[in-house]
Amino acid sequence: MPSPNAESTAFRSALEVIRAVEPRVADAIGAELADQRESLKLIASENYASPATLLAMGNWFSDKYAEGTVGRRFYAGCQNVDTVEALAAEHAKELFGAAHAYVQPHSGIDANLVAFWAVLADRVEAPALKKAQVRQVNDLTEQDWFTLRRELGNQRMLGMSLDAGGHLTHGFRPNISGKMFDQRSYGTDPVTGLVDYDKVAEAAREFKPMILVAGYSAYPRKVNFRIMREIADSVGATFMVDMAHFAGLVAGKVFTGDFDPVPHAHIVTTTTHKSLRGPRGGMVLCGPELADQVDRGCPMVLGGPLPHVMAAKAVALAEARRPDFAGYAQRVVDNAQALAEGLLRRGAKLVTGGTDNHLVLIDVAGYGLTGRQAEQALLDSGIVTNRNSVPQDPNGAWYTSGIRIGTPALTTRGLGVAEMDATAELIHTVLGRTTPGSNADGTPSKAKYVLDPALADKVSRQATDLLSAFPLYPSITLA
Ligand code: PLP
Repeated sequence: MPSPNAESTAFRSALEVIRAVEPRVADAIGAELADQRESLKLIASENYASPATLLAMGNWFSDKYAEGTVGRRFYAGCQNVDTVEALAAEHAKELFGAAHAYVQPHSGIDANLVAFWAVLADRVEAPALKKAQVRQVNDLTEQDWFTLRRELGNQRMLGMSLDAGGHLTHGFRPNISGKMFDQRSYGTDPVTGLVDYDKVAEAAREFKPMILVAGYSAYPRKVNFRIMREIADSVGATFMVDMAHFAGLVAGKVFTGDFDPVPHAHIVTTTTHKSLRGPRGGMVLCGPELADQVDRGCPMVLGGPLPHVMAAKAVALAEARRPDFAGYAQRVVDNAQALAEGLLRRGAKLVTGGTDNHLVLIDVAGYGLTGRQAEQALLDSGIVTNRNSVPQDPNGAWYTSGIRIGTPALTTRGLGVAEMDATAELIHTVLGRTTPGSNADGTPSKAKYVLDPALADKVSRQATDLLSAFPLYPSITLA
């Protein structure tokens, strides 16, 4: 344990140094802590990293160029970067039971891009080299590439549809993956809201994807990765899992057996800043077959590695290997289930009727609202959430009909099951008392809403009261 005032001293001193150069930045950093302390943060993809993780990022590692990987750099003098990159990779391998870990991706999107290129290199480039009897990609003719792509049936990806909870990077147009791959989606059962594995298998048989992707941003249930792997194998697809959202639940051994992606997938990607509670960043885990291709991430698709963030990843992964992280991960799920039960008891409509992970998706059509109206009304009341599509959403991806809420951040603060019931009451009160607004010409608006400001103030105060017993970063005082 650090000495009692070490964390306060570290952050205070840092701000003093920054303030001497650009006081507005120091003020903004201080204001951000105050805002985070005051808001009931229910954004499912956010968390609070430890002071040690945060401090590991603010130093001279940021000054170092280190293209390449451990022991094979394009720059001299990378011995200390090698130390932190190797440490982060070692912790990741131990934590997740993976044969190989690549800890350079700057974000989840970047991790997915590294994985896609690795799979393409493995599935397209390597056979092409063999077939053309050449050693380098540069020696392949246009005709070699053309023939090979045709033989492989082009680049097809099958992933979860956006409105069922999939992510943009799983082959959708606004992301480069939607241009690299011909994409098809699997949805969820219209009645239960659950993944229908028979339908996924049927889609795989018809479409014959090169990559089958599992993983999600807004699906409140477990996915059986053993079955998904069987489906991938039956059509010769590479099976990739993007565990960005639930990596903390895998690390904390809440998702085990068929629900742990690592033993079942050929390649696994993740972010490090969501339920895993590390710095902002990404990571790729894989077996030895794909390791060389994955390690080519920089400079293939990534800019120079961020050694300061890799140092922070090493710290956060070391924290996740401690026994108390498993307790945290279990509490995240217990809290999400308590929140879901509290909402259901009060009459809310939830996608799939509940949750078995860290997130809950409220179908706010049950309150006569769009996701956008609900999100703003909750924000006015000191409750930070985000709007999200629900399956077959009639309001599209902008207005949506859902609100996604998650418990990783509040659980880090120490809130428990009793506070989740109180949180459900606050959410239900706001949504139940908000009504849709109209445009100037009297037509119904999907964005405007009516909420009594006195009620919003009252709920805001109640949210602050609820949080006051669970101070954020209690060891840190800036004043
Ligand atoms: N993959 C999934 C499943 C996600 O939910 C997200 C982000 O929300 C990402 C990837 C992208 O992560 P990042 O924002 O770090 O690029």
